[in-house]
Amino acid sequence: MRAVGKLIDGKAVAATVRAEVAQRVATFTRVAGRAPGLHVILAGEDPGSVVYVRNKEKAAKEVGMVGEVHRLPDSVTEADLLALVEALNQDSSVDGILVQFPVPKQIHQAEVLRTIHPDKDVDGLHAVNVGRLWSGDEGLVPCTPRGILRLIAEARVPLKGARAVVVGRSNLVGKPVAALLLAEHATVTLAHSRTVDLRERCREADILVAAVGRAKMIPGDWVKSGACVIDVGMNRDGAGKLCGDVDFASVEPVAGAITPVPGGVGPMTIAMLLENTLRAAESRTNARGQGRG
Ligand code: NDP
Repeated sequence: MRAVGKLIDGKAVAATVRAEVAQRVATFTRVAGRAPGLHVILAGEDPGSVVYVRNKEKAAKEVGMVGEVHRLPDSVTEADLLALVEALNQDSSVDGILVQFPVPKQIHQAEVLRTIHPDKDVDGLHAVNVGRLWSGDEGLVPCTPRGILRLIAEARVPLKGARAVVVGRSNLVGKPVAALLLAEHATVTLAHSRTVDLRERCREADILVAAVGRAKMIPGDWVKSGACVIDVGMNRDGAGKLCGDVDFASVEPVAGAITPVPGGVGPMTIAMLLENTLRAAESRTNARGQGRG
């Protein structure tokens, strides 16, 4: 049990995941004769992206993977960026390819996602992986949603038959979280900006996942007593302090389990990226360590 009282400690769970990955990386490296490789493409110098990419590279190296960043100028053409993705698709030492978003305006995000080989798509955003997720096939699943399911599991919150409400329907978070909860036999409501009576929908939830991007929009009286509340939001409050979509002060006394911001969902994202890269490496490489392209 990773929860300290009702608080779900994402930092501690993420550390456990990283340790598990490091062990499996050591085994993979011994058998395959090479370490799993995560390649990140960063186009431009968006300050947030520069930090995220540095953290991903560092995390990959810490678990024994090859972590390589391909830095491209802000002016890079779409053709050049896609050519790099294609070269990485063909390189058998590359297991995971991630293009850091947002990309410069001349590059179409959809085109980038289409070009990454689905078996190397460690962000799990390629349409093939989306289809695999919804049809229950093995595939790569977006990192933050997988991290959320791991946190719920660590908190020992039962999902079978439970009522889950996900607020936010993005391809990155809301929709894949809903698919994963459904696969665990929860009854899922996917709410969004056009949802009528959002407060009432939220109050029905045994598991409430907030992935909106609006500081403290969910107060305590929107939450059922004893509910498990997962706060994905990363916002700044009026004082510039990092906060979630949930008003922690009023929700925490009502909830049965809750993730803090920071220190909840956030740390899980990179941990699950490492796990996805390892899974990609394992499924692309046969027992004799012979990789496929
Ligand atoms: P998007 O902006 O892509 O999606 C936001 C969703 O919230 C949309 O579906 C939108 O509805 C819905 N929404 C907006 N306003 C309301 C409202 N008033 N009531 C109900 N629903 C509303 O965001 P993301 O999914 O990418 O991210 C959500 C949050 O999670 C952000 O704060 C982001 O920073 C954070 N995040 C955190 C991560 C982490 O590692 N911790 C990783 C990824 C994201 P509609 O579709 O109708 O417009």
